[in-house]
Amino acid sequence: MSKTKALGQHFLNDRSILRKIVDITAPRKDELVIEIGAGKGALTFPLADRAGRVIAIEKDKDLVPFLREGNKENIVVLEQDVLRVDFRNIVAGETAFLGKVKLAGNLPYSISSPLLFKVLKDKDLFTACVFLLQKEVAERLGAQPGSKDYAPLSILFQLHFEVRLRFTLAPGAFSPPPKVRSTLVSLEKRPQPLFEISDEDRFRRFLRTAFAQRRKTLLNNLKSSPFSIGLLRESFLRFSLKDTVRAEQLSIGQFVALFETLRRA
Ligand code: SAM
Repeated sequence: MSKTKALGQHFLNDRSILRKIVDITAPRKDELVIEIGAGKGALTFPLADRAGRVIAIEKDKDLVPFLREGNKENIVVLEQDVLRVDFRNIVAGETAFLGKVKLAGNLPYSISSPLLFKVLKDKDLFTACVFLLQKEVAERLGAQPGSKDYAPLSILFQLHFEVRLRFTLAPGAFSPPPKVRSTLVSLEKRPQPLFEISDEDRFRRFLRTAFAQRRKTLLNNLKSSPFSIGLLRESFLRFSLKDTVRAEQLSIGQFVALFETLRRA
């Protein structure tokens, strides 16, 4: 596989699209933007015109000279794999921007899933994220109960962020064009999570088990959870959930209530 393909290098050139992404990111002089997959700087430079500082993460060392061009003093280039970057460490070194950090990027699609879970783990660091993602992944983030796209990722993101799908781009908007369509998603951090969760790691594992096999009922999936079948049946009765209900039919509130009840039993 070519390096271009392996690193998901599909560059944006269209100025009006770039402007729209920067406008939606809306960086301010008192804010730090961490950009993921900065490439040749198509977004980095216009972001830096408006932000206090941009930390541009790029794995491909051949692209780093483009990012260093012009020696812009408020751009810091990190030649690293974003999956190995310690966001907490970066933010700790940027005391002037504490509580004012946004994440942005035209993401390399091959790593979007692990990257999104990494963002969730460090969500307390960021006020907002603006990501260009494969359309299907964006739809999963914004999916509502009852939809085939509704998944643990939808629930975990919507608990903490207001998820908005902004616009979709055809492959021809990129050079070289990818095989898929892309959607810009903005994630605005909620002042408070939609519901309080007592143990988010366990809640994430609970959701993963609940959605493990979509053709199975929720009850059958949850038989693989740490909770006994007796306790599961009792809690289903308490919340008037039928044995035949499937995971994608439960609202976020119902999932949280069920989890918290099972945990405390
Ligand atoms: N931001 C540029 C643009 O919009 O034109 C480039 C976007 S391109 C879709 C994704 C970029 O992410 C590429 O420059 C690629 O080299 C970089 N990349 C791929 N995997 C990465 C990783 N694990 N860590 C950091 N950058 C990565």
